[in-house]
Amino acid sequence: MSVIGIDFGNEGCYVAAARSGGIETLANDYSLRATPSFVAFDGKKRIIGVAAKNQQVTNMKNTVGGFKRLLGRKFNDPHVQHELKSIPARVEARSDGSIGIKVNYLNEDQHFSPEQLTAMLFTKLKETSASAMQTQVNDCVIACPVFFTNAERRALLDAAQIAGLNVLRLMNETTATALAYGFYKNDLFEDKPRNVIFVDFGHSALQVSACVFTKGKLKMLASSWDQIGGRDFDLALAEHFSKEFLERYKINAKTNARANLRLLTEIEKLKKQMSANSTKLPLNIECFLDDVDVSSSMQRSQMEELVAPVLERVEATFKKLLAESKLTIDEIHSVEIVGGSTRIPSIKQLIEKVFNKPASTTLNQDEAVSRGAALQCAIMSPAVRVREFGVTDIQNYAVKVLWDAEGSNSNAEVEIFPQFHASPFSRLVTIARKSPFSASIVYGQPVPYPDQTIGVWKIKDIKPTERGESQEVKLKVRINQNGIVLISSATLVDRKELEEAAAAGEQAAAEEKATGEQPAANSGEQADAQQEAYCENEDDNNTSTASSPGGQGWAQRVKGWFGSGNDKAKKKTIKAIELPMEISTHGFYPNELTNYTQQESKMIANDQKETERIDAKNALEEFVYDMRNKLQGGALERYVVEAEREAIVAQLNDLENWLYEDGEDCERETYTTRLSSLLQQTDPIKHRSQEYEQCPAVFDELKNSI
Ligand code: ATP
Ligand code: MG
Repeated sequence: MSVIGIDFGNEGCYVAAARSGGIETLANDYSLRATPSFVAFDGKKRIIGVAAKNQQVTNMKNTVGGFKRLLGRKFNDPHVQHELKSIPARVEARSDGSIGIKVNYLNEDQHFSPEQLTAMLFTKLKETSASAMQTQVNDCVIACPVFFTNAERRALLDAAQIAGLNVLRLMNETTATALAYGFYKNDLFEDKPRNVIFVDFGHSALQVSACVFTKGKLKMLASSWDQIGGRDFDLALAEHFSKEFLERYKINAKTNARANLRLLTEIEKLKKQMSANSTKLPLNIECFLDDVDVSSSMQRSQMEELVAPVLERVEATFKKLLAESKLTIDEIHSVEIVGGSTRIPSIKQLIEKVFNKPASTTLNQDEAVSRGAALQCAIMSPAVRVREFGVTDIQNYAVKVLWDAEGSNSNAEVEIFPQFHASPFSRLVTIARKSPFSASIVYGQPVPYPDQTIGVWKIKDIKPTERGESQEVKLKVRINQNGIVLISSATLVDRKELEEAAAAGEQAAAEEKATGEQPAANSGEQADAQQEAYCENEDDNNTSTASSPGGQGWAQRVKGWFGSGNDKAKKKTIKAIELPMEISTHGFYPNELTNYTQQESKMIANDQKETERIDAKNALEEFVYDMRNKLQGGALERYVVEAEREAIVAQLNDLENWLYEDGEDCERETYTTRLSSLLQQTDPIKHRSQEYEQCPAVFDELKNSI
């Protein structure tokens, strides 16, 4: 079993695997390490990755890219509408408001969701890994942008599940990069902590994070981001050249999707050349539109003028990080860059301007994210042995819990996690209740998603005590290892049980002291006075899972909170009763996931069948050409009598015609049957030739004697 790390980029993916010798970035079936994030449909089969991107210009409607930015969103989301401008495939709203990408597959129009397309890409990456590692892949860590909200993270996990991947962790992309940096430099952190800034400027996003390394661990401090990337450079240049071509050639590239795509492809090449060259460089496209050849040129300084608004946003993002990390310039050891667009010289200049340090290229700019994810997977998976390295990530948005205040029309709320709080982490909120209620988890600050709500949890089965008083309800709010926020349990503290179980109380008291756990600061001031909400930390110690609610550990903790265990007069202990919850949050329902998973398995089987069919057809075609050459003036001609030779050649000619006409699209068996029947005729000829090769003298003797 192998463990892998996946960098799912908007433009391209990288997969790295952990082997006993270290981390290796894997090459795909085209011997390339980058697999374009493209999925295409061509009649009977799916085409994924390099081959999909290669045929995009001739199959625009059925080739889809850019779906990373559509994950977990609804069709009418303004962000989706903006993204769709650069996706030439047909995209529609489905009856439930979700996104349906319409393609022609198996000779009918079919809709796929962004999650399904992502799963298809993951299937390809899984195959790449399995063939490179010669073993099945199960455990993986997938990197995702730091700014991904709950809905997007859930959607990514759903996609992985549809593809049959077991995700040990969704890891923020810059955190993966930080791990790739720190893991092998551990010895250097012995003397004093090292603060490093990581800048990832990719195709669609800019992410900047501050991280502190100490021996054996890293801790993320803060992140800032903006949804700008290399594609915004391409678009600014495309706008410029389109205008120029309209004036000079009276050609409007924007009216033709194919011309637009060709223009963007050439511009990207030009942009890359400009990173290494400040002189004027040409842009030529033959037969661009209406058979007109177009040509122009550009130099780096001109591009910088065109993208000035993007560069301003880049600078602002750097400055924001500097302010939020609370690091001074002198405290920063270095600024490490990754992501394709950090190769642009003006980005490096801005780094130097803001951080007063040259951009450092310690890491492989393209592979660092996947390598860090693979390292994390190796650390977490029992399948590979590597040394421990602690990773404390952060929750990039503030999170609040809201609930309806009993006996009042207003909502009570508490900020449960401030922005940049350590993750994974759990906190307990204590609420006094007499009746069932709904608790919502919402973002406590604007997020790049139209809905601030993470989910609603209906907490059931709450009644007043026998004396008509409120019950103590504890909600465990958790940021898990995937950066997903949830209420992982709701527990009722049963006071009645206390007085009946005095002996257990003493035991619990002793253990409570040993754990030394204290209730955290009362955050309940914001809550209704009667509600009395309190927050309490439950540190996950990064990797270990929290004690299960309702278990003995939990009871001890609750005991500690009430702090009355040592009081002989009361002799109390507490029984924690888990309350049922009805949850409504993002992501597919289990039955939907099952359906999509089955659909994906069917498509994988279909792809396999189609590959075998095409292989069988190719094998027959190859045989026809090869055998005809051999029988007509080739190596086998002299081993067959003329009449038979002519008959076989005639059959081969007929077969060739058939392959281009009726036989173009047959079942695999049709091709294999025809090949077998041919082989029956030609094998004896081949056999004779082999016998002759082995012993030509006997053969000649025999021939002379006839
Ligand atoms: P994202 O991180 O936004 O999801 P991604 O991971 O797919 O996207 P990368 O592979 O890091 O993105 O970077 C791709 C971008 O880098 C493209 O826009 C590409 O044009 C740009 N790029 C690659 N090489 C160069 C170069 N030499 N000069 C300028 N830009 C480059
Ligand atoms: Mg990236």
